[in-house]
Amino acid sequence: MRVAVVTVGDELLSGDTVDTNASWLCNRLDDRGVSVERITTVPDRIADIARVVNEYRAEYDAVLVTGGVGPTHDDVTMDGVAAAFGRDVVPNEAAEAWIADHGDYTAADLTEGTAHLPDGARMLPNPEGVAPGAALDSVYVLPGVPVEMKAMFETVADEFEGERRYVEEVRTTEPESALIARLDGVQERFDVAVGSYPGESVRLKVIAADTETARAAADWLRERVDLAAEVEQPEQGDAQTGE
Ligand code: ATP
Ligand code: MG
Repeated sequence: MRVAVVTVGDELLSGDTVDTNASWLCNRLDDRGVSVERITTVPDRIADIARVVNEYRAEYDAVLVTGGVGPTHDDVTMDGVAAAFGRDVVPNEAAEAWIADHGDYTAADLTEGTAHLPDGARMLPNPEGVAPGAALDSVYVLPGVPVEMKAMFETVADEFEGERRYVEEVRTTEPESALIARLDGVQERFDVAVGSYPGESVRLKVIAADTETARAAADWLRERVDLAAEVEQPEQGDAQTGE
């Protein structure tokens, strides 16, 4: 399954808010074997949201949109998503009923528009807040507030499924440029993909379709690179001493 993530908000583009929603979603999707192929941030502007959602729903198996779903004037995500489908935003009965059942108020007490969703959308209840999300075909609209976004994603997580992959990590003190032959070697010998991420040490991420292959390939590497101290394997009994 191939997915795109769209985060909406002027405050993301100005740098006022760090886009932790995108990275959290990517992590959860990756855990489920789903391949995230785009992260795009757009302003709170109907035309921009509509254009990106329209393009991505044609290209990917699903699109996850977060942010701008509240009822305030700057929250236009539902309008943008509705526009991508050529639909209107209309009062949603399931959303009104859910809000009435789960709060000390009725939909009428809430800001106008809280229970309005794109016509034909499935309402996604908000376990941590009031404003509901929506699913329309393959497009999922989640709130921007991280705790609400996470809780709502969990209610639909089962709809995101891909090939499970198993990951082993190896950290080395050697520079990336010195590792090329061994990285080629491990990929020739084992059915794995290897990512290499330099930082204080170089983090090698070994990815395979099953645990045994991931572990065997990682062990092959561990025997051949200078391991960074934090991953020296503290075997049972812990006979190793740190560097
Ligand atoms: P509300 O109904 O509260 O307005 P909302 O769904 O409309 O919620 P936004 O207005 O887009 O969400 O954002 C609300 C707050 O959530 C932001 O001020 C910001 O703190 C946080 N937020 C929004 N988007 C993100 C994001 N991509 N990553 C991290 N935090 C975010
Ligand atoms: Mg808002």
